[in-house]
Amino acid sequence: MSEFGVYVHIPFCRHRCDYCAFATWTDRDHLMEAYVDAVVKDIGNKVASGMPVADTVFFGGGTPTRLAPDLLTRIVRSIPVSNNPEITIECNPDDVTEEMIHEYASSGINRISIGVQSMVPHVLESLNRTHNPENVEKAIAYARAAGIVSINLDLIYGVHGESLDDWRATLQGALALKPTHISAYGLTVEAGTPLAEDPARHPDDDDQADKYVLADDMLVAAGMHNYEISNWALPGHECRHNKVYWSQGNYEGFGCASHSHKDGRRYWNVRTPDRYIACIAAGETVEAADEQLDVVTRAREALELSLRTTDGVPVGTLDVEPLEGLVEVQGARVVLTREGRLLANEVSLRLKP
Ligand code: SF4
Repeated sequence: MSEFGVYVHIPFCRHRCDYCAFATWTDRDHLMEAYVDAVVKDIGNKVASGMPVADTVFFGGGTPTRLAPDLLTRIVRSIPVSNNPEITIECNPDDVTEEMIHEYASSGINRISIGVQSMVPHVLESLNRTHNPENVEKAIAYARAAGIVSINLDLIYGVHGESLDDWRATLQGALALKPTHISAYGLTVEAGTPLAEDPARHPDDDDQADKYVLADDMLVAAGMHNYEISNWALPGHECRHNKVYWSQGNYEGFGCASHSHKDGRRYWNVRTPDRYIACIAAGETVEAADEQLDVVTRAREALELSLRTTDGVPVGTLDVEPLEGLVEVQGARVVLTREGRLLANEVSLRLKP
């Protein structure tokens, strides 16, 4: 039985990064207080109608650290949690102060996920990001001083102008900070972003594959294990919230544009913070739409998600022979090899639910 997760979306950013297609705004800071009021009210309503206590909570965005810490922790405190919850917040290293992390820890937050992307200034510039790599070190020191030991660093590879040595420097810099978890994603081109309009800056598949292999070599050598294609952790520090998603567990999303899932029904909220606040104030539903997954689709998705993890899929759901080198049998399961992880989408097409 998977754990129950709560996701809270904080849709405010200082700048819009030019590769980003998330629901986030740079001109809505005046709504912050009303937004937090609306989220807290929404949570209260769902609790009153029987929402379970949360085993995992994740604050994502947008940039959760854009909110004043007392606003953010008001939301944390309004979420009923089980005995040993995992409560994560995504942090922009430039926003983080010692007091802020202290307030977070006092409210129960016990995991931080820092948006590092790269440790190399010219690569950060190419991503249109501004932060100073030294701030990452400070944020981690504040977290440790406040008793937060679970620390994820988010990295991106394959940015235009990033050499393999730049990527190696980012990995070395990240590992030197001794995080417990690293997520490393290849840059993807999202429709409608400035990056999409500029093909000269689009990532190259072979370059990304080389960088993936380098990441895996270095992270594994540092004692981390790859437990999902893009995620590595020290033993015992795998992200429980992600596991809720990957095991098709139930989760409730709060805030605009957040998604929820309950027993095969997926539903998602209105997209803008303005609309979300207005719906809550008017006592209307914030749900924009939903879909009910049929049994076959659910079974197929379960396999696709599981294939991406070290759990793999049951023997019999994949023809192993034509996939030689891409998958291997481990007991009653078939799991991706590292070559297979690079071609996971192609392997997925051959699943037989
Ligand atoms: S900080 Fe994150 S959410 Fe905000 S625009 Fe940049 S990538 Fe998107």
